[in-house]
Amino acid sequence: MAKVQKVEKIWLDGKMIPWDEANVHILTHTLHYGLGVFEGVRCYECADGRSAIFRLKDHIDRLYDSGHILLMDIPLPKEEVIRACKEIFKVNQLKAGYLRPIAFLGDGEMGLYATSNPVRVAVIAWPWGTYLGEEGVKNGIRAKVSSFARHHVNAMMGKSKTVGNYVNSILAKREAMLAGYEETIMLDPQGYVAEASGENLFVVRKGIIKTPPLTNVLEGITRDTIIQLLSDEKLQVEEALITRDELYIADEIFMTGTAAEITPVRELDHRKIGPGKPGPITQKVQSLYFDLVKGKNKKHSEWLDYID
Ligand code: PMP
Repeated sequence: MAKVQKVEKIWLDGKMIPWDEANVHILTHTLHYGLGVFEGVRCYECADGRSAIFRLKDHIDRLYDSGHILLMDIPLPKEEVIRACKEIFKVNQLKAGYLRPIAFLGDGEMGLYATSNPVRVAVIAWPWGTYLGEEGVKNGIRAKVSSFARHHVNAMMGKSKTVGNYVNSILAKREAMLAGYEETIMLDPQGYVAEASGENLFVVRKGIIKTPPLTNVLEGITRDTIIQLLSDEKLQVEEALITRDELYIADEIFMTGTAAEITPVRELDHRKIGPGKPGPITQKVQSLYFDLVKGKNKKHSEWLDYID
């Protein structure tokens, strides 16, 4: 399902190189210890036929912030990485697709206190459909509350999109998939709802829209986008602690993320959510979001970076 479709070029450390030559040494530090940072970004083909990367600057800001948190400063000006992100779509003649900027520690020293390894940076783009499937976006998915807790705020640094943080996500995702579900919802160490393995979460009950506070979740760019789009519609989102049973009696639940876009949850732990199909707020959010990323909402045109 998630097999990467090969394209011609990859950008690595300032150079466009052929796909098959974008290799690293087996002693690449990040491969051994997980200290690296990355982003997931999307480029959409807009209604006017041009292509635009959505909130590219915000994603690159988060990439640099992630590196800063980990004491792994990225040794290139942000503008150069932003340029590479646009260029990679052009050289590969992609009108739309997924973009993966990543910064990692190269080889040299081993052990945990390696200080001289180079911080390397790559940008990869490839065509990628919606992460939880077209059917999921349309009709909703079945999810399971995970037996794995999300990271404690003082164990992993949640504001950083760190490579190693995703072991926790993968454990939860595998558990859910192997049990026949499509995604998992994780609770924080106190037992409150945090987020999905790669998405933030919104809950609607009796007309009130809630999302967990940023304490224990990634500061999702889609989450922020949805809060702003709903505010434009005079709909307020409350950032509040949410309990597991509150999810069971919600009228609507939806997940938000660059890869998964806006995916409704139709069933959680064998409880139907609302009528078991996407509700009116979820559908509204989907249409606002897809109009926006496809250039149909002029109010937020600063979020679209056209590549041609
Ligand atoms: N939470 C986690 C754990 C994620 O991996 C992601 C995807 N980056 C998100 C939330 C959603 O973030 P965004 O909307 O910025 O893609």
